[in-house]
Amino acid sequence: MTSLEGFEPIAISPQKQDPGWKHCQLYIKTGDPKVELKKCLYCGKVFQGGGINRFKSHLAGRKGNGPICDQVPPHVRVSMLQCLDEKIASLRHRKSQMAVNPSRSFSELDNVFAENEVGGPNLMNQEEDVGMSVDNGIGVGVMV
Ligand SMILES: [Zn+2]
Repeated sequence: MTSLEGFEPIAISPQKQDPGWKHCQLYIKTGDPKVELKKCLYCGKVFQGGGINRFKSHLAGRKGNGPICDQVPPHVRVSMLQCLDEKIASLRHRKSQMAVNPSRSFSELDNVFAENEVGGPNLMNQEEDVGMSVDNGIGVGVMV
């Protein structure tokens, strides 16, 4: 059981625009190393490490990604599920585009997903390319 001793609740910074942040309280312990915790507003479970996506999986009730929330209101669970699915869909596009660059592996991208850095400006800049039929290239572009 993770203790909150020594941790202080802090406000979520405006940069954290992911809807998942609305459903947790962020705690921080200053020191070396600095530790950051997320506490679920509904069931009170505490998460150390892992990105906001892991927390959203908790709310969405996605199995295989840590404990799931048994207190989350149904409408929140649904919206978190949708949010995760949108992110995965945009990542699939991203992956198929990245297939032309063999220096980056798919598993590396999975790590990016886990670290919750997928919403950065790079991905945003890529959004306009999404309209092209990149799906056809899956499996072909990988065999370099
Ligand atoms: Zn919870």
